[in-house]
Amino acid sequence: MRLSHLLLALSLGLSSLPALADGLRFAVVRTSGVTTLDALTVADGSWTEKVRMNHMAVLIQHHAATLLFDTGLGSQAEAQFRQDMPWWDKPLFRFGQVSPVRDQLAGSGIRIDRILLSHAHWDHASGLSDFPDVPVWAPYAEIDYAHIATPPAVFPSEFSASTRWHPYAFSPTPFLAFDESLDLFGDGSLVLVPMPGHTPGSVGLFITLENGRRYFFSGDTSWRLKGFSGPRQKFWASSRLVDQNREQTLAQLAKVHEMLIAHPEITVIPAHDADAQDRLGYYPQWVQ
Ligand SMILES: [Zn+2]
Repeated sequence: MRLSHLLLALSLGLSSLPALADGLRFAVVRTSGVTTLDALTVADGSWTEKVRMNHMAVLIQHHAATLLFDTGLGSQAEAQFRQDMPWWDKPLFRFGQVSPVRDQLAGSGIRIDRILLSHAHWDHASGLSDFPDVPVWAPYAEIDYAHIATPPAVFPSEFSASTRWHPYAFSPTPFLAFDESLDLFGDGSLVLVPMPGHTPGSVGLFITLENGRRYFFSGDTSWRLKGFSGPRQKFWASSRLVDQNREQTLAQLAKVHEMLIAHPEITVIPAHDADAQDRLGYYPQWVQ
């Protein structure tokens, strides 16, 4: 076969393949929420302005797999909270009615193939027990942290010996503001990046749709979108309670802040910011 024919055959073959991100879609699944004061969530916030905070998961359908990024609060959330949250911290971390991901997906025919954790904090991992057979992907550092951290950060009742941990490492491939990344399906549509600080193995997830729109789920590095402008840390007392390393957390805030200056087209969604999530809508509403 002549080279030109070979190239033609290759290009025809390639063009007949679907783009890997074809049909990629995601939905924010709101599992619970609470109203609190702006000042408790971000430095220099208002002591009179009320803000809504969500507990959520991100449901992602890629043609290769269906994933959850975090689980939000699961069907055992009340019992886990009763058992593991110290009484003096209970008022700080109370939450409203729970609508677990498992229940919201019932009857949909959607089956979860893997769960990715932004980090192992109780309000992100609570729903793991509703998906006992599903592999749980997290960096080695976060799996270690899940085994040694204690309430109010991590609840032992949410993990068991049968938790199907799937540890992973990042590759030294830069992605936007980050020096390392993990391209989950090799097509650039779902890319994890390390964000150590809030916890040792915290991660963020970029979702890039077929139309080029890019979303960044930034976990708990900031609870509020406005933490990335400034940048502004959490309220100092909240940060002392929940951020494992405050200096590293601030460095991650600054990194995302710089990235947004260079790439204002990226939509950032902190894990608890209800205003940011309202704009995407909630399952069964899909973003695609
Ligand atoms: Zn957290």
